[in-house]
Order: sequence, then C-alpha cells, then structure tokens
Amino acid sequence: MAVYLCHERPDLYEHETSVVEARPGRVLLDRSAFHPGGGGQVSDTGWIDHAGGVNEVVGVETVDGATWHVLADAGAQLSGTVVVRVDHERRSRIAQLHTDSHLLNALVYDRFPGTLVTGAQINDDGTGRMDFDLSEIDNDVLRGLDAGVNEIIRSGVDVRSVYVDAEDAAAVAGLVRSLSVAPPPTVDGRLRVIDIDGVDRQACGGTHLTNTAQSRPFRITKVESKGKRNRRIRFAV
Ligand SMILES: [Zn+2]
Repeated sequence: MAVYLCHERPDLYEHETSVVEARPGRVLLDRSAFHPGGGGQVSDTGWIDHAGGVNEVVGVETVDGATWHVLADAGAQLSGTVVVRVDHERRSRIAQLHTDSHLLNALVYDRFPGTLVTGAQINDDGTGRMDFDLSEIDNDVLRGLDAGVNEIIRSGVDVRSVYVDAEDAAAVAGLVRSLSVAPPPTVDGRLRVIDIDGVDRQACGGTHLTNTAQSRPFRITKVESKGKRNRRIRFAV
C-alpha cells in the first residue's frame, strides 16, 4: 500500500491535477484525493472537471499498481489539466461506518477475548457488516453492543492515524487483528495504524473520522449465524 493522498490530507476533497494516461472511460491522474477502496471498503466516487465539461467518476480500479478512475461515460477520453472532486457526503458516510466498525470490533474483542475478524464490508448506502470468529457465543450480548458504540460516539473520542514499523507492529497483540482487513505495509516497511484514543488501535488503510462525535447514531440491524463460532453483525448509521 502506498501512502494515499487521502491519508495525508483527509480534508482534501477538491484539487487540480493532470491526466497521465487516458483510455476510453478511464483515466490515470498525476495525483488524486480519491480513496481507491480495499480492505472491505468501497472506493470513493465523485467528478472530474475538464476543458470539455464534467465527468462522473463511478469508482477506482487498481490494475498492476496503477489507479484508474472509472468514468460513468464509457466513451469519454480526458486529457490535460483537470480538477478532481470527491463526493464529500458519500466519503463521510463511509468514514462514519468505518470508524464505528472499529468501535464495534473493540467492544467485541473486549467482551470475547481471542475473537478474530474474518471479514468486513463497508457499503456506500450507510450499511455495513463485520464477520467474527468468536471465542464464545452470546447473541444477546452481540445484539446489544450498539449501546456501547453509541456511548463512545457521544464521548467524542479523538481518532488519529500514525505510522509504526511493521515488524514492531507484529509483536503487539491485537494490533493486526484481522488479516483480511489490515493493509500491507508501505514500501518503506511502515504500517498505518488507526488510534482511537483509549478504545482501539489497529492497522487499517481505510478512511475514518477525526473524532467519534462526527458519527450519527449507530445501529446493529441483525446478527446472523454463519457457523458454530461465526457470526455476521450487520449495522447501519
Ligand atoms: Zn479502519
């Protein structure tokens, strides 16, 4: 994982850049604030303003390390200097869900030590899910965990991203809790860690809030059985 522009500048939603390469319906940019998705999170969407008008970006596809912005108009071929605009509201919705999923994860981990996350999906419609391989099953406890998540949301806890040495991180129990969600280290061997002050500290490459109070209230909508020790928790904001 490279260090994304959206990691360095999470507040950057619009900027000028230039087209590096273009194919019909897709474009490679010199730099872009779009999150490319990954680790269970969908990519950003938005718009590209160019000399000929505005094109909608429906997603981002990474092919052989190149990040292609996929356009709604499959025939469009862009060139020159452009302005990219990230769909701010959609990014915010995803960041809320994503940050809340860390809170949920921390509470599950707290209540059922030794539990593993086996999968996660954050959608752009305000819903998501996390799959757990639990050390102990108690569906009632799982269903009631949204109260604890909302308590942390109301407390207004700061969320920071820090970079740690990947080898040190491997030695800290719980830091890389889920193999399916954790991003690979950066080229210089550092791992991006999301630190929710006193609540959760976990390797992650997604987009997050800067304070839990920015999230709307969180709801667990369903707990599904996916096997003897496996449960899928569906949630929404
Ligand atoms: Zn995350």
